[in-house]
Amino acid sequence: MVTSRQATRVAIVGAGNVGATAAYALLLSGLAAEIVVIDANRERAEGEAMDLAHAVPFSRPTRVWAGDYGDCGGAVITILAAGTGQRPGETRMDLVKRNAAIFAEIVPRVAAANPEGIILVATNPVDVLTHAAWRLSGLAPSRVIGSGTTLDTGRFRALLGDHFGVDPRSVHAFIVGEHGDSEVPVWSSANVAGVRLDDLARSRGRSFGASDRDRIFAETRDAAYAIIQRKGATYYAVAVALLRIVEAVIRDQRTVLSVSSVVGSDRYALGEVALSLPSIVGAQGVEEVLELSLDPEEERALRRSAEVVRAAQNEAEAGRP
Ligand code: NAD
Repeated sequence: MVTSRQATRVAIVGAGNVGATAAYALLLSGLAAEIVVIDANRERAEGEAMDLAHAVPFSRPTRVWAGDYGDCGGAVITILAAGTGQRPGETRMDLVKRNAAIFAEIVPRVAAANPEGIILVATNPVDVLTHAAWRLSGLAPSRVIGSGTTLDTGRFRALLGDHFGVDPRSVHAFIVGEHGDSEVPVWSSANVAGVRLDDLARSRGRSFGASDRDRIFAETRDAAYAIIQRKGATYYAVAVALLRIVEAVIRDQRTVLSVSSVVGSDRYALGEVALSLPSIVGAQGVEEVLELSLDPEEERALRRSAEVVRAAQNEAEAGRP
């Protein structure tokens, strides 16, 4: 495939539910001039690329094709969505061994084709695989981004917006830590336009006690289980979350997103682990992981979450050369 110098290319490895939906969202956005989809199942990739290409006359001029790893060369960002998803009742961590083996195969090939690029990991368990992608690629930690709790933060804001009757985009509240069962809601700094949620509850005439908070967080954390139980997989919201991260990189927006990245051992004394904290995302990837002020209970919960991820990281890496 001939590489055009100016074209903004995004490569997507894994043309399943998540990869194909991300490609579709990307196509409609017009952000990328070229989208290449790569999958172990070549026919699947070809079918998705054809279907997407036929949407071009109704959307934005974009070249879409089914390619191979060499086509990751020149990509601004490569999305990794290859691997299996949770079956009903499985946790994200149950996927560790299966998807770590897939990453050991694909990440070196992506990095060989594009040693300067940015990798965006969607495959679960996303934090463990962000760490694996960092190790396997040889890229700087800032250039390996996991979608992390971007999606969970979106779900949290949607539920809070609904509870208070305000646009979720006006809600500032983050989910940090693991994208999974040990994730942590940061209630202590959650606000709407600087107004604390307790004060907003009074002015809006809504209840906001411990049971409301517990319910909102449980619905956030357990959303994937609820969706998988009903339709077998989740892909629309994550595809748009991925698009949001890609946009921040391509347009160098320096948006604060709760992406996952490998944080240094000095950060809250967490040790070397990939997890989500509010981070500035721009053309260079994760430009800065922000220092969030947490109350003591949140900090303890974040440490517990880091331990959960690190244990799975160790499991994924056991037996690696
Ligand atoms: P899927 O089964 O529909 O698609 C996975 C694709 O990966 C398939 O097309 C398969 O052929 C391909 N694949 C498998 N092994 C490969 C290899 N070695 N090389 C190249 N391609 C390979 O799954 P899905 O529903 O799209 O989910 C993909 C991943 O995304 C899962 O791990 C899922 O848990 C995860 N996910 C993450 C989030 C998030 O917020 N990060 C949200 C939803 C799903």
